Amino acid sequence: MRFSRFSTLTHSLSAFSAFASNSIFRRLPLTLPPPPPPPSATSRAVLRSMPSIPFLGSLFSSSATAKSDDMSFPDQRPESEWQAVLNPQQFRVLRQKGTEAPFTGAYDKHFAEAGVYRCVGCEAPLYKATHKFKSGCGWPAYFDSVPGAVKRNVDNTLGMERTEIVCSNCGGHLGHVFKGEGYATPTDERHCVNSISLKFSADDEAAAAKDAAEAKAKA
Ligand SMILES: [Zn+2]
Repeated sequence: MRFSRFSTLTHSLSAFSAFASNSIFRRLPLTLPPPPPPPSATSRAVLRSMPSIPFLGSLFSSSATAKSDDMSFPDQRPESEWQAVLNPQQFRVLRQKGTEAPFTGAYDKHFAEAGVYRCVGCEAPLYKATHKFKSGCGWPAYFDSVPGAVKRNVDNTLGMERTEIVCSNCGGHLGHVFKGEGYATPTDERHCVNSISLKFSADDEAAAAKDAAEAKAKA
């Protein structure tokens, strides 16, 4: 009898144990997960400062840089005026940084003994005829420019870093300059310029021819 009651008791205990282990109690976590930590003083400060971050970004954007560059050109004609003096193709290249198709420009294969290539927009002398060399690239190529006539900007378009060259006087886009290509020139630089950005002036050529004629007459 005692044994029987004991047996019943142990049976009941094991039954309860089985119930407990299979019941909803087992699915209840023994300890509650810790509550999410309150935002720290640092993260609250970061959240408060978030709205100012886009403003900071704009200070370093390329458009902000370009704007400050524009202000440094002596010729400050507005775009509306450039549109009036340049034809649409010239405007697209000079003022909108376009590129003419290779092997199509007027000066690609133009070589002269003397003379100067001027900016088609403002007529500033940019390159001397003696700076030009045959690169075979499809655009006029110069190994150097008239001192100070050309300004360089970093150009990150087309997924690469290039050096853009513009007219120092009016900011008109000329093309790009490439270095270290191995051309047998004094600088190992190639100013790759759109013909449409240029206007050849034979003034120097005429003067040189006159000098030559006078020298011949004296001889
Ligand atoms: Zn110019």
